[in-house]
Amino acid sequence: MNVLFSVVVPFYNEADNLPPLIAEIDTMLRTLGQPAEIILVNDGSTDQFAQPASSPSYPIRWLSLTRNSGQSAAMYYGMQAARGDFVITLDADLQNDPQDAPKLYRKLVEENLDMVTGVRTNRHDTFVRRASSKIANAVRGALLQDHTSDTGCTLKVLRAEAAKRLPGWNGMHRFMPALILSAGYKIGEMPVNHRARHSGVSKVAGGKRAVRATIDLLGMLWFCRRQFHGRVTGGDAP
Ligand code: UDP
Ligand code: MG
Repeated sequence: MNVLFSVVVPFYNEADNLPPLIAEIDTMLRTLGQPAEIILVNDGSTDQFAQPASSPSYPIRWLSLTRNSGQSAAMYYGMQAARGDFVITLDADLQNDPQDAPKLYRKLVEENLDMVTGVRTNRHDTFVRRASSKIANAVRGALLQDHTSDTGCTLKVLRAEAAKRLPGWNGMHRFMPALILSAGYKIGEMPVNHRARHSGVSKVAGGKRAVRATIDLLGMLWFCRRQFHGRVTGGDAP
């Protein structure tokens, strides 16, 4: 049976979040009412998580990275493994509300886009995180012209073809709109709900993140101009 939706979730030490996460994804997929799969990518977790015994209505595929490789790597491998025509990406800590995914999908279809990114309204993060994110989004937007107010929102819906054009490198997940746009695809954004972490702690250190994002930005300025622009059609094109 053809899979229409692949939900891809990276997780690192999120044991307590997995059971409610799976339940919420299941409810969301039932709203969409189409064949789907859930791809959970274990990014080298060291906590004692058990694959939940609950049996969702949709198959779960568990991928494991041999070592903790970062959110970009986990998302990259999950998206590459997707069998669906559309990929829905989410955080594992339930900060994103899976119930927002259907409206992002509807926008994507109605406006014939290739990726729709959520914009977190009422962010439930610390003041420092919100302020640094605002500055980063402003600088990034001005330099890369990616027309995206909040690249840090993991809740996104993409056509699988566009998702599979994303290159694998550490930091990629923060630049998905610019990467998709400069590959010749169309993007959009819309407001989504944002919640407090359900359980556990953030895995990303603020200061480190800012320095790395700046270096990544320089690489992106080069890559976006030089990556292949456009798509392949016909035959057995990927
Ligand atoms: N994550 C991951 N590998 C890492 C760090 C984070 O797979 O090395 C996952 C994490 O489990 C979560 C998502 O990426 O599902 C976002 O991480 P986090 O919530 O810590 O980031 P924040 O929301 O604080 O930016
Ligand atoms: Mg989070």
